[in-house]
Amino acid sequence: MLVFSWSLVALLLMSSSWAEVATLEEDTSRELSVGELLERANRDRTPDFDEPTLIGGDIAIKSEADRNADPCTARGCLWGKWTDGKVYIPYYIANHYSSREKAIITRGLESFSSVSCIRFRPYQNGDHEWLSIESRNGCYSYVGRQGGGQTVSLSRQGCLYHSTVQHELLHALGFNHEQTRSDRDSYIRVYWENIIDGMEYNFYKIDTLNQGTPYDYNSVMQYEKYAFSKNNRPTMVPIPNSNVSFGQATEMSRNDIDRLNRLYKCCKCAVVLSWTKLTQTDIKEDTQRPRITVKPH
Ligand SMILES: [Zn+2]
Repeated sequence: MLVFSWSLVALLLMSSSWAEVATLEEDTSRELSVGELLERANRDRTPDFDEPTLIGGDIAIKSEADRNADPCTARGCLWGKWTDGKVYIPYYIANHYSSREKAIITRGLESFSSVSCIRFRPYQNGDHEWLSIESRNGCYSYVGRQGGGQTVSLSRQGCLYHSTVQHELLHALGFNHEQTRSDRDSYIRVYWENIIDGMEYNFYKIDTLNQGTPYDYNSVMQYEKYAFSKNNRPTMVPIPNSNVSFGQATEMSRNDIDRLNRLYKCCKCAVVLSWTKLTQTDIKEDTQRPRITVKPH
């Protein structure tokens, strides 16, 4: 009986330390940048036969021919806007997620409502195009609207973070990685010699629509500086100042939001978005100053 009790105590102690390790790992992961999370989740990925080829780490393509295309300009992959000025995008969340996992996904979906005219809403009978959010092998999404149900894979192993959900949803909305922007050579230097052989295409520039927004080192679509490195040396470095914070986003940046609003012409949303932050002094000095500004797009 004594032996039994001690075994029980030992078992309890062990399980509590396992729980601690698990919690610790989760907490550390939350600190990781979106690029690090994506790379970790998609490393050594073994796709099922019905899963798409990935480029750029987490961008799904239907065929090799799509690799260098700018899908939005070539195929009109923007989602349609309703007469009320909002863009409703149906989604379906696979039922293999736990309620906690579903809550992370839902929080990511809903985070677009307060900052843009994008409204993700549950799939209804009769919808012709929708996002099918599933836990497949890795984190990935197609770029832009594909027609019919399109998979957004958010694997239960490593993809359920606010940043990765936002990142994959921005792909589905039509955005590419920041480092493939058409103007990136003015902002980052790519070190081709440090890139894993055969992975160079992840750094090919795309004729992106930059919406007049500046290159953003802290975009949630920017990978970190060691992405696809074969020798632990950086594959991209900001220029001219290599020390600026780079690829460390853990959520959508101001620029990500701005460019989303411009792409979808969420003009009315700009009113909400551009709340001027007034300091106490500003308010005292200029009470007539409008607190809302509308940016023409
Ligand atoms: Zn991506």
